Amino acid sequence: MTEDKKSLLQEYKLEPDNELRFEVEAKAEKVYLTLKNGLAEIFGTEIVKGKTYEFTAGAKVAVYTWQGCTIEVKGKTDVIYTAKETPMVLYSNCHAALEIMRSESEKENKRGPITMIMGPTDVGKSTLCKILLNYAIRMGRRPIYVDIDVGQSTISIPGTLGALVVERPSSIDEGFSQEAPLVFNFGHKSPEHNSKLYKMIIDQLAVIVKERLEVNKKTRHSGVIINTCGWVKGEGYKQLLHTGKSFEVDVILVLDQERLYNELVRDMPNYVKIVFLQKSGGVVERSQHARSEIRDQRIREYFYGTTKKQLYPHSFDVKWSEIKLFKIGAPPLPDSCLPHGMKPEDHLTKLVALTPNPGILHHILAVSFAEKEDDNVILSHVAGFVCVSSIDTERQTLTLLSPQPKPLPNNILVLSEIQFMDSH
Ligand code: ATP
Repeated sequence: MTEDKKSLLQEYKLEPDNELRFEVEAKAEKVYLTLKNGLAEIFGTEIVKGKTYEFTAGAKVAVYTWQGCTIEVKGKTDVIYTAKETPMVLYSNCHAALEIMRSESEKENKRGPITMIMGPTDVGKSTLCKILLNYAIRMGRRPIYVDIDVGQSTISIPGTLGALVVERPSSIDEGFSQEAPLVFNFGHKSPEHNSKLYKMIIDQLAVIVKERLEVNKKTRHSGVIINTCGWVKGEGYKQLLHTGKSFEVDVILVLDQERLYNELVRDMPNYVKIVFLQKSGGVVERSQHARSEIRDQRIREYFYGTTKKQLYPHSFDVKWSEIKLFKIGAPPLPDSCLPHGMKPEDHLTKLVALTPNPGILHHILAVSFAEKEDDNVILSHVAGFVCVSSIDTERQTLTLLSPQPKPLPNNILVLSEIQFMDSH
């Protein structure tokens, strides 16, 4: 059943193993959902019976039921339909297999499975990560979630890679709770823009994640779930292989693309289990424009929060002399001018001091945790982000939008290519 632009109160009775899918229009009012009877979940998080959930513009939702249920939906949805075919049984089988590996790791006191989810864009990679993490949490596990998808980062703002110990199921409207995530600034929306830097950050992230697995027993046995970029061809594929090696993955779940699956079977060591999974028919394709809107939305939420949990950012001036601004990557030198022993691609990971200039207006700056302004800045994780909302070249000051009041936690700032126009 597909019915467009429903605005009334509607009741849906779902058979076991069915899914109610809907989208909320980009400029629409809110949509409210209540579970009346039975059991249901949204991307692995159980819905509480009788509680009303609110979905805002742009939401794309699937309510799945293992046992059957009745759901009430109020508000104007763009599309709403019940799907009888879903890959949820396959996804749940993957979870069961990971659980067996986790139980074995407990017995042998080894680390639990490190799983990577791969596939082209818009195949439901982030959603599958969410489902597997939620199922693991519901079994009492404490897995680490790693997101290296810099285009549509789910842990911090776009242009970042991050890791998070997941302690409770994701909230239906807010995602995973963001307590103390580990965040690295890459500063570009695709790994293509600086492959060398991306690889270096992956290696650093893998070292830290493995250290975390060593120190916490529960997390060690629960393992890691890694979300990746949809760039799966050529250099993108090589990046995926590199990530797999760096994290020493045990399992790769490939969504939708058989070619990628076959290449991985050919190129990964035999002990890595590679599983092909079909994508859900519910996954919504997003245009470049929609992707860029989602990026803006993530940054807006970083500073201003959501309608449910509003945040109140600060705006203040800093003198140029109070900060040390850097960018990563110098312009390439012709081969003939390269210092002895330097390779042409080395310029990509050079730390370059910058004088503030009008070109950085509206750019995001990462506040580094680095103590000194040396090469460690490149591989330091970050305390947070600020946005340059204006620049005064005469007074030599910058106005920054910041989640925290002045002073900044550190004066070492790194320029990101990501921009944000603050319309508040
Ligand atoms: P990317 O290309 O950014 O890496 P992805 O492969 O991670 O994308 P998702 O972000 O998981 O894809 O899914 C794309 C969109 O489809 C999301 O808005 C998600 O909420 C929606 N979606 C996923 N599964 C379903 C489903 N079964 N029914 C309805 N919507 C869904």
